[in-house]
Amino acid sequence: MPSVRWKISVSGIVQGVGFRPFVYRLALAHGLTGFVANTPDGVAIEAQGQAAQLEDFLVALREAAPPLAQVGEISFAPISLRHDGEFVLRHSTASGPVSTLISPDVAVCEDCLAEFFTPTDRRFRYPFINCTNCGPRYTIVQRIPYDRPHTTMRDFAMCAACQREYDDSANRRFHAQPNCCPDCGPQLSLVTAEGQQLAERDEALGEAIRRLAEGEIVAVKGIGGFHLAVDAANSHAVQRLRQRKGREAKPLAVMVADLVMARQVCRLEALEEQTLTSQERPIVLAAKKEGHGLAEEVAPGYDQLGLMLPYAPLHYLLLQGPVRALVMTSGNRSEEPICIENDEAVQRLAGIADCYLVHDRGIHLPCDDSVVALQAGMIRQVRRSRGFAPKPIGLGETGAMVLGVGAELKNTVCLLKDNQAFCSQHIGDLKNLEAYRVFQQSLGQLAALFEITPALIVHDLHPQYLSSRWAKEQKVPTLAVQHHHAHLAACLAENRQKGQALGIILDGTGYGPDQTIWGGEVLLGDACGYQRFAALEALPLPGGDAAVQAPWRTALSYLHTAYGANLPDLPFMAAHECGPILAMVEKGVNSPLTSSCGRLFDAVAAMSGGRQTIQYEAQAAIELMQTAGGRLSEAAFLCEVYEENAMLKISVRSLIRAVAQAVQSGMAQGEISRRFHAGLVAAFTRVAEEARSREKIKTVVLSGGIFQNRLLLEGMVGSLGRVGFQVLVHKELPCNDGCISLGQAVIGREALKKG
Ligand code: ZN
Ligand code: ZN
Ligand code: FE
Repeated sequence: MPSVRWKISVSGIVQGVGFRPFVYRLALAHGLTGFVANTPDGVAIEAQGQAAQLEDFLVALREAAPPLAQVGEISFAPISLRHDGEFVLRHSTASGPVSTLISPDVAVCEDCLAEFFTPTDRRFRYPFINCTNCGPRYTIVQRIPYDRPHTTMRDFAMCAACQREYDDSANRRFHAQPNCCPDCGPQLSLVTAEGQQLAERDEALGEAIRRLAEGEIVAVKGIGGFHLAVDAANSHAVQRLRQRKGREAKPLAVMVADLVMARQVCRLEALEEQTLTSQERPIVLAAKKEGHGLAEEVAPGYDQLGLMLPYAPLHYLLLQGPVRALVMTSGNRSEEPICIENDEAVQRLAGIADCYLVHDRGIHLPCDDSVVALQAGMIRQVRRSRGFAPKPIGLGETGAMVLGVGAELKNTVCLLKDNQAFCSQHIGDLKNLEAYRVFQQSLGQLAALFEITPALIVHDLHPQYLSSRWAKEQKVPTLAVQHHHAHLAACLAENRQKGQALGIILDGTGYGPDQTIWGGEVLLGDACGYQRFAALEALPLPGGDAAVQAPWRTALSYLHTAYGANLPDLPFMAAHECGPILAMVEKGVNSPLTSSCGRLFDAVAAMSGGRQTIQYEAQAAIELMQTAGGRLSEAAFLCEVYEENAMLKISVRSLIRAVAQAVQSGMAQGEISRRFHAGLVAAFTRVAEEARSREKIKTVVLSGGIFQNRLLLEGMVGSLGRVGFQVLVHKELPCNDGCISLGQAVIGREALKKG
């Protein structure tokens, strides 16, 4: 049979994941000659041999690809024969525009763990063990192609033994860029609160474990940044951490030694267990068990625990005993980004950490732990970061290169390139200058990874956001997009849906084009545009942002709007000085109007005897939901819907009156919560049916941070499904403002098409 030669190119996540070595072995197995090389576009192959062998080779390229690879397109064309004599692996070429995808960071793999726990292995208990199938990626790469000199491993020269592995095509560390060992790689050290080195290597680890067991707060440098760690079973230690961090009540994430222990602290569904042990290793929000054995202070008043399993080799060492469960919270002050540099940590975490377990492998980009939850039958993102970013989201169609710079809170940035969306890790709250620095750095990272300038930068309609201002400083055309429109477009794009849909977008805050604060919106539209079909009534928010911290103020204001001067006398009012707030609302002083759904939850929580002031975002709403015990009531509160100014208004006042009457009749808070949730579900379902009868809408999109409320999400999905709607929900991106950058970018792309 005569020989043929094909030129094959492969796109997707094919660099830094052992793809070239895989191609090399595959070529040898099929008796082919030629070469494989990384290129700016992915991987290029020229292979020569029998046609049948080449065909098998091509199929196996996709089907037998290494676990971390995500093979995109494979194209091939016959070319003229050459006489190579063998198949070789060529070194990278770096020129031309770049579109290769970098892998996210990956938890240590089974093969590496087996070596890690083998006393005779040369990497026995070495905290930086990795291979082509695991280890840090996104957080250590500075530019592409993904080769060692372009990562924070560039300062570590491989020893002879490591180099042999790296060069040996039969070895599982063949071309593993972060490859290293105790002789040539990074090392641990323990540093005091003052920055003095106390111990190194195993001794540093031993001392850190001893201190954790004694209840000290140890800052631990990991993959995407520092954690603050304490023994999760030690109440006193957890309290100390809360005090020092100024974090009174917000739940803290816990890392437990293994799945057996995870099952002891939480009731886990099969999907949750799969996710806990996945290579992404996110924090999973799961139902707390009675008698979980951890300190109550870990997640006080919260019926779930944020649980994760070890993902860096160092974590396995830390949890070998005597401490088997560690609080592992982001190493930062309140809403600041996570620390990544050793010196920076000693400075910024001063007064919080008792000591620092650090190492000398640099982290290029901070990346928090991702957070996911099982909701409406699927694992959904709450915070998409380490392990997921920058994995692309397929858009199903191609278009111009557009950058979305996100919202102000839970900021992410997103670049559209061809048929994919690259969403950054969670950046955080852009009111914070540290976060703004990470925002700029993350944009720099996207620029370095893609070496391209977008055709358009899309930002929020709010002119004062730092992201909006940054966008306008660039020498690129810009577009401003309304917040809730971005939510709608993001959810459509993530579900690869086109065409008009009804977006039920429920969240806390978004700047409206009428200069009021939006947040309970029903928008009719798609990425090309929208119309405000319905909204919650806009009511005054006394003191603006101050009311967000004090739900009782919102409750008073809403009661005043519902009843006028004849306020019912509800028990919660006795604890507050109501006069000044009521005067503010009456005179309209510093009381901006808002249709926020978050504030409605706050008001109902405060009125029904729940949280009066909050210590973390959405606390009142979360606690109100919990009192419902996971179900809606058959007897929903009646929520009126009426027409005003060519749109539908959903009557907040009618709900507030229903809640007030229930409180006066002595109804338990749990039942009030069930009827309130059911009332919202019924009202929004009625609005959707009205939209269907007027506009022939078949699809409803649910987006906005309020849908992290599983009772409401599952209630809406069920109710809309029963009346025949196709319901689209987020899955790969969070429903909260983490999805805004994608929505902005997609809207921008449509705007460019129209010209
Ligand atoms: Zn490995
Ligand atoms: Zn070595
Ligand atoms: Fe939002």
